[in-house]
Amino acid sequence: MRRGPWIIVALAILAPAISVGRVSTATAATASTTGGWTWPVVGPVIQAFDPPDTPYGSGHRGIDIAASFGTTVVAPADGTVTFAGPVGGYLFITVDHGGGLSSTYSWLSAKLVRKGDHVLRDQPIGLTGWGHPAAPIPHLHLGVKLDGSYVDPLSYLGPISLASFVRLAPFP
Ligand SMILES: [Zn+2]
Repeated sequence: MRRGPWIIVALAILAPAISVGRVSTATAATASTTGGWTWPVVGPVIQAFDPPDTPYGSGHRGIDIAASFGTTVVAPADGTVTFAGPVGGYLFITVDHGGGLSSTYSWLSAKLVRKGDHVLRDQPIGLTGWGHPAAPIPHLHLGVKLDGSYVDPLSYLGPISLASFVRLAPFP
């Protein structure tokens, strides 16, 4: 009986490593997203990551990806929805990917998941809205946190696929 707790501790330590391994396998099998996460929406980055100097300082805690209002947002990797609902009148979704890594989708017009849902990579989770209030171009704000600190989402997104870019671009 004395071994019980130690087995549980070992599993807890190994779980993130197992999870990361599984995501890597999925990445290798998806030609259009080699090297990282699926882009939650496909479009140009119109506002880059600009980490604040202090936790409450000004900055940009993520990236803004241009997307027409109502564009489907997909999960970039497997995870569990830890938040899906309004904050100050705007919709936000947060997905926990394990290993201290989470992603947040801001200014949405609709949510397709609920808190506690397990989501798979490429699964639709919501629809984009107008973006930051008063922003001139509709976009998705994507934030990524590692161990509680904001990090550059571009470090996790794979190279954008030109084929999907052309496919998703609206015809004039
Ligand atoms: Zn933003």
